[in-house]
Amino acid sequence: MQDLKALQKALSKARKVVITTHHKPDADALGSSLGLAGYLQKKGHEVAVITPTDYPAFLSWMRGNDNVIVFNEGNEEKSAALVAEADLIFCLDFSALGRINELGELVRAAKAEKVLIDHHLEPEDFATYTFWSTEAASTAELVFQLIVELGDRQVVGKDIAEALYAGVMTDTGSFKHPSTTEYTHRVVADLIHLGADVHRVSKLVYDNNTLDKLRFIGYALSEKLQFLPEYNTAYIAITAEELERYKSRTGDTEGLVNYALSIEGVVMAALLIDRTEAVKISFRSVGEFSVNTFARENFEGGGHKNAAGGKSNLSLDETVDKFLGLLPKYKEQLQAKVLIYQ
Ligand code: 5GP
Ligand code: MN
Repeated sequence: MQDLKALQKALSKARKVVITTHHKPDADALGSSLGLAGYLQKKGHEVAVITPTDYPAFLSWMRGNDNVIVFNEGNEEKSAALVAEADLIFCLDFSALGRINELGELVRAAKAEKVLIDHHLEPEDFATYTFWSTEAASTAELVFQLIVELGDRQVVGKDIAEALYAGVMTDTGSFKHPSTTEYTHRVVADLIHLGADVHRVSKLVYDNNTLDKLRFIGYALSEKLQFLPEYNTAYIAITAEELERYKSRTGDTEGLVNYALSIEGVVMAALLIDRTEAVKISFRSVGEFSVNTFARENFEGGGHKNAAGGKSNLSLDETVDKFLGLLPKYKEQLQAKVLIYQ
């Protein structure tokens, strides 16, 4: 981190700290937030973690979960006060304030110094301190690196190590995505050394399904998965009624898009879900096709080259039509040979 010395100075006395992360936090968002929170608390700071929305139940085992303030669950005023009074606000795992909904403008207006720790493409310039690398496989990896650079590796105990490990594990697709590096494994080796139980974390995050969720995956794969070989594209569109029918909870659709991506020859996969307030879309790709660009250009979104998200205010059917209508424009890119298969 370039401004390490200045940040170190800012943290040299007890501060009021707010940590926030993106809409519908995933394991990297929440794990990096609670890992950092655990560390800063141990260093004597007063820390509040505020999430814009709720997050999956399979993350609730993380230490500090019970004190997380969910902004849109009646905590708007409390959050606004904490943000306004903070000395430092850490923004984790997102690159633009729009990703934290109404909290974004509160953070922008706050007098606090802001610290951005993130690995998404094209960050907005709003932070005082930026610790940002698109090379990093996860934000949790960056948080660990920051703690080490601050000279505090030994402060990390089992709870912090496991929260951070969960972030690295999920954002690398369990160490399978191209973002997984030798450094990632070194970080993980350190986290294990510091107490992370990899089996425990993996069971808690991945083997926490309800029967409804598994039936829903079965239904989505057998009835809803569409494959367009001409465009090397597969997609799944889920209606609000289907979510209700399978009692879908936050996080239950996570990972579904990866099944579509796993079809032989598929270059882009999309999962379109009618979330009522908007259609939320998850994009995944393999090789050079950038779903970050695709999401940015067409669906007010972004993310990483091979994993991005976006939204649409059209109906689900209209959104699917828009998506399908765009494919001819990208046909050449979608048909380009994926080098790793050569
Ligand atoms: P997911 O499909 O798992 O929700 O998100 C994939 C990646 O894209 C994550 O890194 C996530 O932070 C990012 N992402 C998801 N939705 C959006 C969005 O609406 N806007 C932007 N800029 N990024 C998104
Ligand atoms: Mn992340």
